Amino acid sequence: MLCEFDWHVQQEKGSGNYPLPSLTNPILPMFAIDRWATGPGQHTREIYDRMRPALQLASLWLNDDHCLLWFSHLTFGEWRANAEGKMYISSTSYSASPMALQIVKAKLSEFGKVIIFMFFPSSYKEHRWGTTVSGKEHFSFFHEYRKSDFPPVLSSEGVRNPCIALARGFDEFFRKLWSRGATVDDCYRAQFMLACVLGHEVAHAYAMFIGQFDSRGREPLWSATEKHAELGYSWEMNVIGHVIMPIADDAHKNGCFKNQLNATNVQTALPGGNGNRLSVIHDLKEGSRAEFTSRDASGNRRSWPALNAIDFRGAKWSLSDNSPSFIASIHIIPVPWVVCWFQKDVWASLKARWIHHSLYIPPPLTKAFMIIYERNGGPATILRPLNPRNRVDAKILENRRRKEAELSGIT
Ligand SMILES: [Zn+2]
Repeated sequence: MLCEFDWHVQQEKGSGNYPLPSLTNPILPMFAIDRWATGPGQHTREIYDRMRPALQLASLWLNDDHCLLWFSHLTFGEWRANAEGKMYISSTSYSASPMALQIVKAKLSEFGKVIIFMFFPSSYKEHRWGTTVSGKEHFSFFHEYRKSDFPPVLSSEGVRNPCIALARGFDEFFRKLWSRGATVDDCYRAQFMLACVLGHEVAHAYAMFIGQFDSRGREPLWSATEKHAELGYSWEMNVIGHVIMPIADDAHKNGCFKNQLNATNVQTALPGGNGNRLSVIHDLKEGSRAEFTSRDASGNRRSWPALNAIDFRGAKWSLSDNSPSFIASIHIIPVPWVVCWFQKDVWASLKARWIHHSLYIPPPLTKAFMIIYERNGGPATILRPLNPRNRVDAKILENRRRKEAELSGIT
């Protein structure tokens, strides 16, 4: 559907003129080079320096107090059953306390002594950005490696000693494309995706490490409002504010980060009438000051294909099965938003807001192009922001102003 709005999507293509990453924080020991496996398909020693900004960003997400609330809630919240009998984590006042955050840091530090990172070997054909298993021997490709290829387990604290494998595309990008044709935009996208996938998989792996799973090895819902247990998506939504994906999905194997990233957010249309619907739409707009329209890129009214909620990445996590009514937003992520995560001053202001107001709000995608897709019994509709620089959109805005003027003339 996004291809229908190609002009608008192209406007979010970056200028390539950005500041370099300015993060100065140290990389957490869990990401140190000696926690990465060696052996077939593993070139981490060759590419480690190039991955540094991603490892620094992931380290901030896994070390700053305001980002650790998610982990603290998972660690110290209480298990409860919801109306459907699914287990969720209910908050406790202790989990937000400074003491709890200190203990979470200590647990993450022990976690860092057992976790193993690696890239999928080329024999692995599944389409995945990352996978976590509760022990390295559970990977189908385990037999391709020697025992000495894996970093040793240096702590006895874990209930499980998980292993995280990441898409080959990252290895391909940093080893080959980095010095051959990658633009600044591509580099930022690759670094950001790597940091996101690391955070997502660490969320799964940490739950395994501390034993937050049921007798059948299943994760709990992180909160009562989630529909499916997927701690990785839960972490992405809470800490980054979005579930992030490249528009074309082949970067995970070939490392080509030329395509823009997008972010999806799918919500069930809440019961309780139009007021609730408008409030969901308001939240999805994330403070955008643009005027929205339901017209297509040519300015026409039209019917849109009826998609299932499940077609949106991350939807399974936030929706009941086969929900016939839902509202989904898809943002095109502007590179400056990605760049901002790698800037020291942005982190300083996130930290200041936390210290003074006990608030953590990820940087909003205020000005990004987005579509809001809605199905609610009737035909599917799309809302999108108008861009005054677009000829068709300018005409729609002009007509609106004329109508407003006519109306104010009558009254
Ligand atoms: Zn996941």
